[in-house]
Amino acid sequence: MPKATETVLEIDLRALEHNYRYLKGRLRPETRFLGVVKAFAYGSDSVAIAKKLEALGADYLAVAYAKEGMVLRDAGIRTRILVLHPLPISFDAIIEHGMEPSLYSRKILREFLEAAKRKSQTDYPIHLKFNTGLNRIGFTGHDVDFIVQHLNAREEVGVVSYFSHLAASEDLNQRDFTQKQIAIFEGISLEINKKLDARPFRHLLNTSGIINYHEYQYDMVRSGIGLYGFGNSPKIDVQLRPVATLKTVISQIHRIESGESVSYNRGYIATSPRLIATLPIGHADGIGRQYGKGKAHVTIQGKKAPIVGNVCMDMIMVDVTGIDCREGDQVIVFGGHHTAQSFAKDAATISYEILTAISQRVKRVVLT
Ligand SMILES: *Cc1c(COP(=O)(O)O)cnc(C)c1O
Repeated sequence: MPKATETVLEIDLRALEHNYRYLKGRLRPETRFLGVVKAFAYGSDSVAIAKKLEALGADYLAVAYAKEGMVLRDAGIRTRILVLHPLPISFDAIIEHGMEPSLYSRKILREFLEAAKRKSQTDYPIHLKFNTGLNRIGFTGHDVDFIVQHLNAREEVGVVSYFSHLAASEDLNQRDFTQKQIAIFEGISLEINKKLDARPFRHLLNTSGIINYHEYQYDMVRSGIGLYGFGNSPKIDVQLRPVATLKTVISQIHRIESGESVSYNRGYIATSPRLIATLPIGHADGIGRQYGKGKAHVTIQGKKAPIVGNVCMDMIMVDVTGIDCREGDQVIVFGGHHTAQSFAKDAATISYEILTAISQRVKRVVLT
């Protein structure tokens, strides 16, 4: 791997392949696999990731919003794309780009039916999202009769699948709650089977669901964070390989004396002479202020260098006292042993957040 000469996010497609095969290996061979590539593929590079998942044989991709899927279609991705959270303003674009909406309320169902009619569709593929306890988006069991009334008589759309999403699949203290969600989903299944003319398939599990509740894999699973190398548990994390590594360089080194301060509002005051390195990465690149003031650290020459003082828009300062380093040396912000998960934990957040925060200003380098 080349040494970084500016701030770069390396995307390792071999790690993605490893994670895909690991997750597939925990499933029945016939279970379909949906790769979640929303939010720039968890902050990495959605086109590169989607192309690799397509080559690996993923059955579906998922994005949150229509625009994210349009980028994939424009890049030549032909795999089926589920749009998890479509808004009526994008229904025409969804149909024009051959994407499949997740419909989650009476209003959204009615409006999509109108869009499909306006665009003269027959049997246009749709998916139904049910809320079983996350209380985010979704129909409830009470909506089944409405759904059936509106869909059984209509030719414009065809239900391909229905699904729900677990609120706490990673938390084994919440097993009872999760089992309740599963029971509600099973109840909805009975109703759908009894009343809907179509025979859709069903899916429930995200990454931690695959790990902790694989007996409920049904016909498909939806994995995001696991593909990117994190399993929300130390036991699984060691089996996976992080896809993204964030690197930068030392732009300048200062020697400061006891009593001198670093960064805005004098967020750090030295109590002894220190060597301070300035790095070309800041909160505009995704390193939020919560990482400053000694909370998080980066790695230089294999050693920990804490972020000192407040994070600036375009720079952070790190304490390199005692580290044999020079201006121009490579810095690992996260990656290797100090993963995005451990970096995030130091600032009391989660891998999902730091990964998706890395802004589009940071150059992506794809390793194949
Ligand atoms: C984001 C998302 C997923 C992926 O969850 P991970 O924990 O990253 O595996 C699955 N399903 C839905 C509905 C989602 O919104």
